[in-house]
Amino acid sequence: MSSSKPLKTRQLPKKKFHLLIFGCQMNISDAERLAKILTQIGYEQTKNESEADLIAVVACAVRQKAVDRIHGKVRNWQLVKEKRPLVTLLSGCVLAADRKKLADKFDLFIDIKKLDTLPEQIQALAPEEKLALPDFFDIEPSYYSAYRAYVPIMTGCNKYCTYCAVPYTRGKEISRPSANILEEIQHLLEHGYKEIVLLGQNVNSYGLDKMEGIKFPELLQKIDKLGDNFWLKFLTSHPYDMSDKLIKVMTKTKNLNDYLHLPMQSGSDALLKRMNRHYSIAQYKKLIRKIKKSLPQTAISTDTIVGFCGETEKEFQATASLLKTLKFNMAYLSQYSQRAGTAAAKLYKDDVPKAVKKERWNKLNKILTKNSLDFNKTMLGQTRDALIDYVDKTGNIYNNIGKLSNYISVHIATTKPLPIGEFTQVKIVEAKAWGVKAEVVK
Ligand code: SAM
Ligand code: SF4
Repeated sequence: MSSSKPLKTRQLPKKKFHLLIFGCQMNISDAERLAKILTQIGYEQTKNESEADLIAVVACAVRQKAVDRIHGKVRNWQLVKEKRPLVTLLSGCVLAADRKKLADKFDLFIDIKKLDTLPEQIQALAPEEKLALPDFFDIEPSYYSAYRAYVPIMTGCNKYCTYCAVPYTRGKEISRPSANILEEIQHLLEHGYKEIVLLGQNVNSYGLDKMEGIKFPELLQKIDKLGDNFWLKFLTSHPYDMSDKLIKVMTKTKNLNDYLHLPMQSGSDALLKRMNRHYSIAQYKKLIRKIKKSLPQTAISTDTIVGFCGETEKEFQATASLLKTLKFNMAYLSQYSQRAGTAAAKLYKDDVPKAVKKERWNKLNKILTKNSLDFNKTMLGQTRDALIDYVDKTGNIYNNIGKLSNYISVHIATTKPLPIGEFTQVKIVEAKAWGVKAEVVK
């Protein structure tokens, strides 16, 4: 991180920017870096879209839904622009095809890997002196939270799942230098951060793009040694790269949370093949068994796509059945949306009707709700730390909302508010499908 390398800045008149994020944690992390650059060139952030001079959208084109939402917003901004000056900027994981459609509707488009060109592009709209800024990974982010930080350890993806836009929007895998990552995390821990989430499209292939240097298990060990008593998670793991060595290291990583996200995508071998996922159901099941044996407390969540090209009822049933047997307590379920330029768009027909996708999604969601409730019941009576995110008041009662280390939502009702961004020890007293209710341990 660039704390040791102060950035050259030149103040523009104080203008305001507003950030909109339509995407995942990776896009939050992108937005934190974008916000830092805008701040460095003299903008200040506002939460109020209507007073912004610049609106920056960090979007994810992985699903059509996000793209549709942007189109809706853009129509409103055209009306605002008729009344006052407004600069709109688009960045994130945006496919070339979507960019083409949106290009004339935004004033600026910034490739997320080339954030350093942002000041120059803004200057081209309002000429100013040239500014020098560092590479993407060297940009010190403006963190959204004072206690939870998303730390990118790599960007891009080499897997080329046939449905996925990421290899085209973010390019090939590039691992961030480990010294840079360790420096950022050290700095965060020194400033009291409680939760570190390592980010990458495929974190367990960290370091494989370089001949020399450490790989993901070693990186995890080094991060673990930076402190005690903080939460450490990583997102996302590809089953193909989930090695025995990594599982072994995970069992010895004291700060590592009891949470793992391991996308399965489908329960059918034929579909996995069409998706180019590089593993079979038998291999995936074996992997889950291994993880559960070594890390029995770990809550495993997954990603599943329904309605992928040519998905038959039988293939869908295989996915539903696997979701049931493997008892994932959480899953991000998506309905397949064709992305221009991907292999699936070229090779296959998006032939599962929308209504069937929706129906299949609903069926999986039902299974997930039951799994989730069953899992939450297993935590009844446990004493755990909760990290409080939000507090509101109804009558004389404070509703403290937070997360447990395994990513389960927790609700604690108290007569005095609990401190946000701090750990509070709680006892789980009630299980719900959305999470658990708990009491403070005196
Ligand atoms: N790298 C991770 C992996 O391999 O599983 C996931 C990253 S991807 C950006 C997040 C999730 O979006 C995927 O796991 C997949 O379920 C979903 N996804 C990606 N492309 C999709 C598409 N075209 N339609 C629907 N869902 C999609
Ligand atoms: Fe997309 Fe597959 Fe890469 Fe995940 S592993 S980002 S789903 S191409």
